[in-house]
Amino acid sequence: MVKSRHKTILQIRIVRLGPQLAAKKVRSKHRLLKVEVWEGDKIHEVMAVVNHATVAIAAYEAAVRERQGRVVTLRHGARVLRSTEPAKPPVPPTVGHLRTLGVTGVRLWCVSCGRSGVLSFEAIRAGDDEPFPTAGKRSICAVCHSRNVQRMPEWP
Ligand SMILES: [Zn+2]
Repeated sequence: MVKSRHKTILQIRIVRLGPQLAAKKVRSKHRLLKVEVWEGDKIHEVMAVVNHATVAIAAYEAAVRERQGRVVTLRHGARVLRSTEPAKPPVPPTVGHLRTLGVTGVRLWCVSCGRSGVLSFEAIRAGDDEPFPTAGKRSICAVCHSRNVQRMPEWP
């Protein structure tokens, strides 16, 4: 009885919002929380499909215990709310990528004496595939001969 009453209310709302907008609202409202176990980039196992946040978190925590060492996620649609996947360290840009942004060289800054200067990627023999800032030859300060030289892209 209650269910059919809800249906009627929902239908009235759909008429008011217009069919497309209403469908969108209903979909996002009914999007379920899923606890999934991953194998590489594929879902290996769906362990829970829940429509209640607290229950979903409890299910996620239970799944983590049951599938130790596996990547377990709690998702709401495309959004990952929780995950056992270790955070990946940020990938440094390559010299080639910096070149596409207009960078042609590197600013070198001596931490010991404070001298700074600019060298081209060619001058330090940095290959396009090499990650910045470790690409090319090691730098030594021309003034104090320190090896403690920091590098920054020389932005155009
Ligand atoms: Zn120096």
